[in-house]
Amino acid sequence: MTSEFHLIQQYFKRPIKQTDLGIGDDAALIRVKEGHHLVVSADMSVVGAHFFADAAPEHIGWKSLAVNVSDMAAMGAVPNWVTLSIALPEMNETWLEAFSRGFFACAEAFNIDLIGGDTTKGPLNIAVQIMGEVPVGKAIKRSGAQVGDDIWVSGLLGSAALGLAHLLEKTKLPEAELEACLHALNLPQPRVALGLALREIATSCIDISDGLLADLGHILQASGVGATVHLEHIPCLDTMKPRVHELLVQQALLAGGDDYELCFTAPSHCREAVVAVSEALGLPLTRIGEVDVVPTLNVLHHGEPLKLNRLGYDHFA
Ligand code: ADP
Ligand code: MG
Repeated sequence: MTSEFHLIQQYFKRPIKQTDLGIGDDAALIRVKEGHHLVVSADMSVVGAHFFADAAPEHIGWKSLAVNVSDMAAMGAVPNWVTLSIALPEMNETWLEAFSRGFFACAEAFNIDLIGGDTTKGPLNIAVQIMGEVPVGKAIKRSGAQVGDDIWVSGLLGSAALGLAHLLEKTKLPEAELEACLHALNLPQPRVALGLALREIATSCIDISDGLLADLGHILQASGVGATVHLEHIPCLDTMKPRVHELLVQQALLAGGDDYELCFTAPSHCREAVVAVSEALGLPLTRIGEVDVVPTLNVLHHGEPLKLNRLGYDHFA
């Protein structure tokens, strides 16, 4: 029987790179660079709500950290440190080994130290707190969108939601599409490099965790503006494009969560700068709409207003 101490030593203690004191004392010691804000965010992943009980532990490990890294990306911050508080129903070493492998794959990909946490017995629940840095005055907030700004999104939208719909047997995806959609659902790629590149360009930014309309809605509300979004411009898998008339696909694009792409606004005179960032990062950045003075969120499909309440999210209409 492995003790809690050994569990932490074996599965969670790794060399630290940017921390003065990490796992093993009553608290960790970190040092924030002069002239920087400490950027702090937390996200909990709960079995049944955020992942299935039988989900691959490696994926749970990656995603429980990745969704937090994504919040740093959205702020234009560099993620450095993370704590992990985990409730485990049982001491399952196979599960823990795979979970920590996924977690540290993400930590290493973004150069993040795990500096502490807590381990208890209970229904599977993973609480991650992430900390990063941003030079004072450089964070990208939700509140800066200006009338006339372009609205952009990174990557492709809707894939994770379609993957989830497949797992819930609401649709049956063809093999090739299924693979891409499950990858998007299980292994989201936080857009940290993009967030950094947008510090000097974007007027506002958010990561898409709850669906494009919901998350863009947060920007609009915080900024006191409205927007028009063009459905046919929303970037998605090529195989999804001919099906954009289907309700499920529209829902995935507009209301599907879990993509963890960035949605940001930028002045129209910055279009070339955004394209240059896209090329430098090898990441598609697509202009999907514009910020309006009338404080509503309108979705057009080839110029025709889309009846959003038909899609079941009339609270945005
Ligand atoms: P305390 O009783 O002082 O709170 P613990 O025995 O809970 O300390 O934890 C011992 C050390 O291990 C602490 O540094 C704590 O931050 C770290 N730790 C505990 N659980 C985890 C975990 N799941 N991931 C990373 N570090 C952990
Ligand atoms: Mg203590």
